[in-house]
Amino acid sequence: MIETAPNPLNIRWLGKVSYNDALAVQKALFNRGSENYLLLLEHPHVFTLGVRGDTSNILVNPSDIGADVVKTNRGGDVTYHGPGQLVGYPILNLAGKRGGGMADTVAYVHSVEDLVIETLAHLGLTNCGRIDQYPGVWVDPNSANPRKIAAVGVRLTRGRTMHGFALNIEPDMTYFDSIIPCGITDKSVTSLSREGIDASMAEAVAIVSELAAKKWGKGNFSRMDVSWRTSQSELSPFSKGEGPGEVLKPVEESALNTSQPVTIGRKSKKQKRAEIAIGKKPEWMRIKANMGSEYRELKKSIRSLELTTVCEEAGCPNIFECWGQGTATFMALGERCTRACGFCLVDTRKPQAIDHDEPRRIAKAVNQMNLEYAVITMVARDDLKDGGANHIREIINEVRYLNPQTSVEVLISDLKGNADDLQTVFSANPDVMNHNIETVPRLQRQVRPSAGYARSLAVLSQAKDEGLVVKSSIMVGLGETEQEMFETLKDLKEIGVDIVTIGQYLRPTMNHLPVQRWWTPEEFKEFKKIGEALGIPHVESSPLTRSSYHAKEAETLAKNKASSLASSRGR
Ligand code: SF4
Repeated sequence: MIETAPNPLNIRWLGKVSYNDALAVQKALFNRGSENYLLLLEHPHVFTLGVRGDTSNILVNPSDIGADVVKTNRGGDVTYHGPGQLVGYPILNLAGKRGGGMADTVAYVHSVEDLVIETLAHLGLTNCGRIDQYPGVWVDPNSANPRKIAAVGVRLTRGRTMHGFALNIEPDMTYFDSIIPCGITDKSVTSLSREGIDASMAEAVAIVSELAAKKWGKGNFSRMDVSWRTSQSELSPFSKGEGPGEVLKPVEESALNTSQPVTIGRKSKKQKRAEIAIGKKPEWMRIKANMGSEYRELKKSIRSLELTTVCEEAGCPNIFECWGQGTATFMALGERCTRACGFCLVDTRKPQAIDHDEPRRIAKAVNQMNLEYAVITMVARDDLKDGGANHIREIINEVRYLNPQTSVEVLISDLKGNADDLQTVFSANPDVMNHNIETVPRLQRQVRPSAGYARSLAVLSQAKDEGLVVKSSIMVGLGETEQEMFETLKDLKEIGVDIVTIGQYLRPTMNHLPVQRWWTPEEFKEFKKIGEALGIPHVESSPLTRSSYHAKEAETLAKNKASSLASSRGR
């Protein structure tokens, strides 16, 4: 049963997130969202400069100490963010506040400071407060030696907030010696551990969440966390580099008598039997192979042009239907991926060099097949300087040049969140920009160890900032709950995603993650209803749905829905 409270505060613990990814997600929620959010995370080493930032307050060459420098539109001067520091970004609608005048901003800054002061008191540091004219939270504020323990820098526009606070729990304090924090020369910086308080990040997040839910959600809140554990033990053998295992054949009753050797971690016999049992596909997952003439024609063309399709590589159950309808998903940049997601049947050997003739051949294949809609996908090529971005742009341009009538959808990796490389793809203006978030925050590490929830939200947010039609996909059956699906669909809607596809996970081999649940066709219909009720223009959801399934129709439906929504809002 899904719980939905009025105006909840949506709390998201996102783990370690680069400053730029967090900024992209903040901007998306700030500009396109309507719900209240509190993003909680840690940043890698970075110095940020506010609107009054003075670079001379950075005393070293940041790259010498492994830190980035980012200019931002928050108030204040230079500050440091890094591991061991809890960063909180409230994205709130401040009730009754239309402007963002000084009075409103000061009042809001005080409410953020109060949240941190109360949190510190709960953690055992009760001598904290504020100093007028010096935003932030101080230990012994009225003493001769006040010490700053949390920086506060916000932006309040049209009654909506972004940026927030950075609370020093146990960061590497030497980084503060490399700057004049907030441009303040005569006061020092401290941390909970320096004040003798032994508190963990998880404890601080729990207290901040509870107090913030009361303060900004009237006690109503939703909370989703990415996995707190980072141990190898939770990964599938495939993601641990043990390669694909035994391919799962349809299970006969006999297999249930444990004769089957199962090689996954330390599991009880009972667990192994359960896994084998789960392996038994329900009848709605069975498909009829209809190798019609279109299917055979398409197969011949793809062979003759030495092209690879995801349809074949991933053993997609919809291949007969899609090819029968003249849509196919071309796999670019080779078949070897630099990652090993726990659900993906991909070759993880050392990737080969880029085939620079591939854009021409894909364009020719689209032409030969007279495709109205072409999907280009890629493996992750973290071995390439631009992650493959320029090659994908070339393919879009070649397909467009030879097939001006054809719509082009690209399904890209996160390109390691590199804004320039993402821009390279976005600038080719694909008709649909697709990037799969794959699963809910809690399962991200297990399902896609080299990717991340916040990173993927950031990729999708930046694509939407470019005005593209944005799409993402979720695979279910890996252990997610209904509530997590609801919250994840909400996050995708709030950042501005136009199309979401939802399909049932199928386990490719015994070394991949086990199927935890077969969701029923009715439950998939429910996901569609939920997603579209949340405001996502189009949700394609069924057991056999895959990211490019019914892609052409989905694009049309989403565009129509988005334009009718826009006209109803008079925009
Ligand atoms: S990055 Fe993509 S192709 Fe590579 S393993 Fe993950 S899902 Fe498969």
